[in-house]
Amino acid sequence: MGPGPSDVHPRILEAMSRPTIGHLDPAFVAMMDQMKSLLQYAFQTKNDLTLPVSAPGSAGMETCFVNLLEPGDKVVVCQNGVFGGRMRENAERCGAVPILIEEEWGQPIDPEKVERALKAHPDTRILAFVHAETSTGACSDAETLTRLAHRHGCLVIVDTVTSLGGCPLKVDEWGIDAVYSGSQKCLSCTPGLAPVSFGPRAVKAITTRKTKSQSWFLDLSLVMSYWGGGTKRAYHHTAPINALYGLHEALVILTEEGLENSWRRHFDLHLALRAGLEAMGLRFLVPEEARLPQLNAVFVPNGIDEAAVRSELLRRYGLEIGAGLGPLAGKIWRIGLMGFSASPRNVIFCLSALEAVLKDFDAPTTVGHAVLAAQELLSAKGY
Ligand code: PLP
Repeated sequence: MGPGPSDVHPRILEAMSRPTIGHLDPAFVAMMDQMKSLLQYAFQTKNDLTLPVSAPGSAGMETCFVNLLEPGDKVVVCQNGVFGGRMRENAERCGAVPILIEEEWGQPIDPEKVERALKAHPDTRILAFVHAETSTGACSDAETLTRLAHRHGCLVIVDTVTSLGGCPLKVDEWGIDAVYSGSQKCLSCTPGLAPVSFGPRAVKAITTRKTKSQSWFLDLSLVMSYWGGGTKRAYHHTAPINALYGLHEALVILTEEGLENSWRRHFDLHLALRAGLEAMGLRFLVPEEARLPQLNAVFVPNGIDEAAVRSELLRRYGLEIGAGLGPLAGKIWRIGLMGFSASPRNVIFCLSALEAVLKDFDAPTTVGHAVLAAQELLSAKGY
């Protein structure tokens, strides 16, 4: 129950153990076609250029940057946690000129600050931001930020590594131009694949580039020889066949549950976990209106060694929760409720384990109410 990878669904592990066939085998190619429509469903898009990059979420990020940016391009990058900083690094390495908008860690990106930056830099080509900041649990308003970017003539690159499948994300309705995600969070697959999707404006920007993308492996004009579809698929790289079986199964599971139901499950279980954590006396980092259901960041009680608590949870109960990063190191815990890990059983397990360990550490927390508070919410929601 950390910030990812989440627990992998047994059906996914089973799918990954199937025989490894060739990456151009007709059965595999049929699965690739299905994969595209399954990803289109997960992203809520009709974008033709939708595929899983054969590498982790960071490579999804890099795919967006190296294909959309050219040397000298201006890009407004928003940072309210670890991953906005990684976006800026990507922009710099493309020879682009990043303009950084910083937000306090734990807060969502402020659209007014973005508007001011876009007005001050009217030649900006791209606005890049993280929808669900895993390092803090803050959700930024991707719809508003995207509309703002379009009003100022820019494209958007949106990081949805932690949002895909876990909270509302509507690529076409919101008009997102380029989006990337990861397999290991709310899709509950193993790490190592990065679903990406590019809308018509992004595709036009890619096809009218003046310079070659700096990356051979991630250059979409080459990747599409394999993922482009139809009968003309050709070798680009040896696809991670078994990992793709896993992602396919993860997406089948998502369609069986239904995307809206998955969003609702994450939200309901977050409410139950929140009720329990607050009954213990723990406080959330992120303001309520911007809280991600799938990543619950709470302050460590005064005087408590946060790393010792995490070690004890792991030793005694086999339960992993995450630490704070950067300026939040030592100050918060990050409790993930992602995909298959987002279950009533885990909510109750985590609350009772955390409560017991905090009691033994003489933490200034309340004992005896957390599980009841969560149970009440769970039964009210019909779990
Ligand atoms: N972006 C966000 C918001 C993430 O949470 C992560 C990983 O946790 C990444 C990007 C990078 O993904 P990966 O670690 O799969 O490369």
